[in-house]
Amino acid sequence: MTDIMQIVKDRDPQENEFHQAVHEVTESIKPVMDANPEYRQQKILQRLVEPERVIIFRVPWMDDQGEVHVNRGFRVEMNSAIGPYKGGLRFHPSVNLSIMKFLAFEQVFKNALTTLPMGGGKGGSDFDPKGKSDTEVMRFCQGFMSELYRHIGPDTDVPAGDIGVGAREIGYLFGMYKKLTNEFTGVLTGKSLNWGGSLIRPEATGYGSVYFAAEMLQTRSQTLEGKTCLVSGSGNVAQYTTEKLIELGAKVVTLSDSSGSIFDDEGIDARKLEWIKQLKNVRRGRIQEYTDQYASAVYTPFDPNLDHNPLWDHNADCAFPSATQNEINATDAQNLINNGVYVVCEGANMPTTPKGVDVFLQNNLLYGPGKAANAGGVSVSGLEMSQNSMRLTWTRKEVDERLQIIMRRIHSTCLEASEQYGVGGNYVHGANIAGFVKVVESMLDQGLV
Ligand code: NDP
Repeated sequence: MTDIMQIVKDRDPQENEFHQAVHEVTESIKPVMDANPEYRQQKILQRLVEPERVIIFRVPWMDDQGEVHVNRGFRVEMNSAIGPYKGGLRFHPSVNLSIMKFLAFEQVFKNALTTLPMGGGKGGSDFDPKGKSDTEVMRFCQGFMSELYRHIGPDTDVPAGDIGVGAREIGYLFGMYKKLTNEFTGVLTGKSLNWGGSLIRPEATGYGSVYFAAEMLQTRSQTLEGKTCLVSGSGNVAQYTTEKLIELGAKVVTLSDSSGSIFDDEGIDARKLEWIKQLKNVRRGRIQEYTDQYASAVYTPFDPNLDHNPLWDHNADCAFPSATQNEINATDAQNLINNGVYVVCEGANMPTTPKGVDVFLQNNLLYGPGKAANAGGVSVSGLEMSQNSMRLTWTRKEVDERLQIIMRRIHSTCLEASEQYGVGGNYVHGANIAGFVKVVESMLDQGLV
């Protein structure tokens, strides 16, 4: 197994996030590789870590003052063994090829777990939507799509949103795709309801993550009612995680953005959450403003010199990291445990560092890795594709029920796979093994392509 890590590191030495994601999977699947010698003969790992296709392109655009900017666009088409490439677009200044490849790699296994026919991909740009006017965002999205359109399609590659790409961006991207191809198809998911979107898609990742946590708690005959929860982020995933937690009777006491975090001892109730949605989705303000509105809260600015994140240092039962990768290190993980947290459910992708994951696993936490816990988003994207193909719309109740069934199934699949390979209750190994086997068997069926 060391061999594959050596190959990956030698080939792309600077891609730390990608190495981290590959390492986690290869550690989990050791017993599967040992039980299936054919996988080694067929060099299945070497094939899995090499994207089927990577597209990198220039995106020139003009700001409102007439100044020209040049960003870089990416689409990593990682694996299409079980369906068209599927995965979000991220617009954030930190975006680079390593982050795109790690996200695309994770997406392959996540999509396999959903039970829906979707391969894995991811894309985005180092463009920063923060502080940009609507027209600047529109011009950027149009420039981005003027290249991406030739590589995607409803049966080829179907992007969605991710960090920095919400309903507004999906609208501008879809408009440009439609103009260039002269086709109205389900080429993107996360669309608005009026033109092909699915009910529950905005809520799906957050709701799904809470459903997954509820399933984990049920294995100990517990529910979320009355639990104190720490949530990070304040974007799409964090908002709907908070909404579902409130609905199920839990108390959410934290949220954050990239500048800092708030702690509200009295809890963030439905009214306060509505205010946050306005702040973040309409006014596009900073989370710090919450403390001007609600005196019960304190704000702690993000300090890059600290060795830990204060958000994870409060008494609680559950934690829902829902902002970004590597936001929980080993110190944070230990702080969570010292403060009584025994459920960690990852709404974000790879929010915990490998050392943090070790701390969780050594302490017998109910730990749901992002690959499984945040798969609700892409699952409802898959349902949006089905509705688009059939040209009909399911009700809110219908989609929510399907989402709950899928999250329940992902949970039981992870548990069963972990038990089959002697690591019962380890959702990290369970998710990696179950996703891996499905993709690999499909690749082998389809020959050396
Ligand atoms: P949004 O852009 O809606 O929100 C992201 C939130 O995280 C914002 O509050 C943002 O703060 C904060 N954030 C972003 N980057 C950083 C950083 N480097 N440090 C600290 N905080 C940061 O994105 P989503 O809610 O959609 O995505 C959140 C996470 O969930 C990501 O890991 C994403 O990959 C994952 N995910 C999302 C899915 C979806 O359906 N949207 C599906 C599955 C996973 P600020 O406002 O300052 O930028």
